[in-house]
Amino acid sequence: MSSRALPRARRSLGQNFLINNGVRDKIVDALAPTRDQWVVEIGPGPGALTGALCARCAHVVAVELDRELAEALPNVVEHPERLDVRVADAARVDYAGLALEAPGPLLVVGNLPFNAAAAILRRALVRPEQVQRLVLMFQREVAQRICAAPGTKDQGLLTVVTQQRARVKRLFDVAPGSFRPAPRVSAAVVRLEPVARLGACCLRVHDALVKAAFSRRRKTLRNSLRAGAPWPWELVLGAAEEAGIPLRDRAEEIPVDRWAALARALCRARGGCGE
Ligand code: SAM
Repeated sequence: MSSRALPRARRSLGQNFLINNGVRDKIVDALAPTRDQWVVEIGPGPGALTGALCARCAHVVAVELDRELAEALPNVVEHPERLDVRVADAARVDYAGLALEAPGPLLVVGNLPFNAAAAILRRALVRPEQVQRLVLMFQREVAQRICAAPGTKDQGLLTVVTQQRARVKRLFDVAPGSFRPAPRVSAAVVRLEPVARLGACCLRVHDALVKAAFSRRRKTLRNSLRAGAPWPWELVLGAAEEAGIPLRDRAEEIPVDRWAALARALCRARGGCGE
């Protein structure tokens, strides 16, 4: 698409439109759709990715919050019969419900609005039988946090919550000049493959645990969990012992699989599934 044909961008909706066809092709290749798979595109905007997706897939569900852009979208793709545009907030879409409409697990793709990216990711990261793969563009610092290794300063709540639900890989960076208007920061594309490491009730325990730990990330786990975990301290202490978690460590030092072990032990101690 030529940058002259672009609509006026609305900053409040994080609109930075992709004008680099090389980046577009790399994103679609990384998504690797098969012809019969349903693809959900988040924030299609004026359609930089949408046309390429419709050329390769039988069914593209495009979720766009900007009604004007959504209404114009069928006019800019070659196969509008493959396109299903929904005017909705991608941070509220029922992705699991969409997967039930589809013949199999979904693929999810998008150049995400930077201001809503974490909320959208959180919502779209459902179970592997519902979503097979996501290829998403984030602000580079957010991509760094999503893909951070344990023990690094980038590991935070977003890292652990995401990596507990998916295998992640940072694929490539995208310079500001690839967008109109150019954002102030660089972007990066991340591939996420959902995994079911924890059952639903352990996952709830896990999320409450890491939230408590990372909200006081400078403190040791002994102090952060004692102050913030929503269970009796003896229960947490017993579970940490069972899972072999050193409570003198800080949240950012604990690898993702140890958080899972602690969540399972705590879930069992509370009479939950522990799986
Ligand atoms: N995909 C297009 C591209 O690459 O040129 C547009 C990307 S632009 C960074 C983000 C898009 O997401 C915009 O079209 C914007 O209107 C849309 N958007 C913003 N917030 C949204 C939300 N909560 N749900 C769905 N779409 C949203």
